Amino acid sequence: MIIIRKFLELEKDEQRDLANALAVYLSKFFCQDYYINEQDLRNDFDCFRKQDFFQDIVSEFEREHDVSIAFLVKNSKRIKLCKRCNEFFISFDTRNRQQICRKQIYVRFASDKFLNINKRSVCEMIQRQQKSIEWYRKQLLTESASGKSQ
Ligand SMILES: [Zn+2]
Repeated sequence: MIIIRKFLELEKDEQRDLANALAVYLSKFFCQDYYINEQDLRNDFDCFRKQDFFQDIVSEFEREHDVSIAFLVKNSKRIKLCKRCNEFFISFDTRNRQQICRKQIYVRFASDKFLNINKRSVCEMIQRQQKSIEWYRKQLLTESASGKSQ
């Protein structure tokens, strides 16, 4: 069977779902329950990559989802721990800048429907809240500092 679909050519939503599914799938083969630092996770992944069966496991996923995912797993650079929930995820954005997982999509409850307007994940929303609290605090500090000096 020839796999025609390329991961980067898919819609963003599908990329997210596939990256999440791949993380769940691969974690069965190499992950420990808990990691304190990302490098340990990557080291474990590198060991796993060196195993003979690694390619078979990847191919199995590719066949099942009819998509080539080689660029996600060609090295351990996309194997990450979420800066918020500390769980393993696979970064799938083109530039590999992602530091927050997009596992659980944030849903807003509105008139008996679940809506997700911006498609952000729960971890991304928490991160944004945190950032705006930090920004607000900084503003207050600057204001009070400049107030004193006057
Ligand atoms: Zn997370």
